[in-house]
Amino acid sequence: MKRINLLDEKTSNKIAAGEVVERPSSVVKELIENSIDASSKNILIEIEDGGQSLIKIVDDGVGIHPEDIKKAFLPHATSKIESVEDIFSIKTLGFRGEALASIASVSKLTMKSKTKDFDFGREIIIEGGSIKTTKDAGINNGTTIEVRDLFFNIPARKKFLKSTSRENSLINEIVTKIALSNPNISFILYNSEKKILHTFGTGNLYDVIRNIYGKTIAKDVLYFENHLDTVSVYGYIGREIISRGSRTNQSIFVNNRYIKNQMITVAVENAFKSFSTVNKHPFFITFVDVYPELLDVNIHPTKAEIKFKDEKQVFKCIFDGVHSKLKEDVLDTFSLPEEEKKEEEKVEKISFTFKDIDNSYEKDIKALKAKKLANDSIFKEEVNILKNNDFSIKNTGEKESDLIKIPLDLKSESIYNKENNKLKEDSNLDYKVSKFLEKEQDLNSKKNEEEENSKAKFPTLRIIGQFNKTYIIGEFSQELYLIDQHAAHEKILFEKYMKEISKRDVIIQPLLVPIIIDLSLSDFAYFEENRTIFSDAGFLVEDFGGNSIKLQEVPYFLGKINSKNLFLKVLDNLKNLGSGKTLEVKYNKIATMACKAAVKAHDELNLDEMRILVEDLRHIENPFHCPHGRPTIIKMTLTELEKKFKRIT
Ligand code: ADP
Ligand code: MG
Repeated sequence: MKRINLLDEKTSNKIAAGEVVERPSSVVKELIENSIDASSKNILIEIEDGGQSLIKIVDDGVGIHPEDIKKAFLPHATSKIESVEDIFSIKTLGFRGEALASIASVSKLTMKSKTKDFDFGREIIIEGGSIKTTKDAGINNGTTIEVRDLFFNIPARKKFLKSTSRENSLINEIVTKIALSNPNISFILYNSEKKILHTFGTGNLYDVIRNIYGKTIAKDVLYFENHLDTVSVYGYIGREIISRGSRTNQSIFVNNRYIKNQMITVAVENAFKSFSTVNKHPFFITFVDVYPELLDVNIHPTKAEIKFKDEKQVFKCIFDGVHSKLKEDVLDTFSLPEEEKKEEEKVEKISFTFKDIDNSYEKDIKALKAKKLANDSIFKEEVNILKNNDFSIKNTGEKESDLIKIPLDLKSESIYNKENNKLKEDSNLDYKVSKFLEKEQDLNSKKNEEEENSKAKFPTLRIIGQFNKTYIIGEFSQELYLIDQHAAHEKILFEKYMKEISKRDVIIQPLLVPIIIDLSLSDFAYFEENRTIFSDAGFLVEDFGGNSIKLQEVPYFLGKINSKNLFLKVLDNLKNLGSGKTLEVKYNKIATMACKAAVKAHDELNLDEMRILVEDLRHIENPFHCPHGRPTIIKMTLTELEKKFKRIT
């Protein structure tokens, strides 16, 4: 056994720093909380490089007494409590006196501070926990801290950091939550010189919501409150229209501290579900106030978790508060929220492979080719005759009679005959020649088509009709085919779109009126991170100041759908994919959603439209399943059908 050593102060600070200062966003949190504790009215935050190269906080709080500035960096140095008993009556956010010591031990830090009682402020520079200088400094009342090169002396911790944009969004999130819980303080957040957030300290929570989430969201939030003996709740719940696929727009504060708590989330969501037709997460900001005695205090200070002694009471208070507000709102508007389709249910995949198409397909293609060739040579002959100006009535007549003798049962037969008849009527020879030349070209292109045909994934069907404006009925050989027209259409669009994306060649349409979308901070950060993915996918977006963006062009095939909804849904779904997904997966997600949105249900199709659809379907990579994995085609053989009719057993 090794002998016991007492760690020196620097080392123990570094270790403690690991707990308090987990990542740049935790530094931001600690420093802002210090500014709040110092009764600041205006807090400016500047971030560079995800907080790694710079975190700067400027406040106009009470400042630090010039003689205390060194002390502030000693572990367990705090002005907020004097003895253990104070812990129970604590009103400030910090009290352990650890943060500054920890932060200073893992960064290069400069702090300047001035109280109103002095003409000069004091500046201190600390690197890796060692004080470099202290001197007088000219500064306004308040405190300015610059934290540079975070974790420069603990590379191991640096490795745990996520991407700059991810760290940025964590910082955005924490500043958002702090701003929400302090409506009387003005916050400005700059990230790489870009203003990300600005609240004005009006004291009104609703103003903060509007500043942070934008007015589009703010117009659909409802104030609720409820009070029981030991607990009070209040906050804002969003109408269904602003609910989202992820839980990003949800905040919970207990005694004004931002926390995460499943019980509270469930209480709000359950109340919301009673009025919701979609499987989405509501927007909410919930403040819960309880007597400190009713909280389990023994909880790690950096973990945003909390436990209530009487969970049932808290649950009921929240549930009832939210529920009755939503009920009131629904009764007010006299109509239930807009119906939206339930997320597609998982449907068992029906396998339908190339093998399933029986061999007659091959035979058919051969027969088809043979017939086409025969047809082809007849036309060629005709053309030659015309070209050679051999137009004696006799010859033409002979050719025509020959033609009729040859059985033509190709698709082109009727067109051909029609053309032929027209030609007979037509006396203009030039016209005839040009028509026949056209025909020849046509045939050449038909030949190419044949080559294409050989790549087709199922045979040419004879289209019988449409059932329930949903299914196309077709037949081939002794098989009956049912095609889900929407799934088929979706899949055709999907493959085409994916191809376009991969070639970076998506056909786009400018929107007549560009759509302005106010994003939340974290959505905006996520969008920034994935900007190129959106532009590759044909969504051309410009910044519109703050967290707002301007959607200007969308993929052409989308037609006139609600592009804003689609954009937000795509954003949500990409976020839900989590990190570490490949570009391919992300494009796939976008394409799946876009195509689903583009395909309208229950369109009556005429025979030609159905033929075109089925023809397109035949030639895509995998026509048998829609992008969601459901089958697009079901077939039934004659034998199967006859078995059902008990003609055979
Ligand atoms: P705690 O907040 O738990 O007291 P910290 O290490 O975060 O511990 O801060 C130590 C002390 O430094 C605080 O108690 C406070 O007196 C002083 N201090 C830190 N930041 C500020 C600030 N922005 N304005 C005024 N005083 C500050
Ligand atoms: Mg503190």
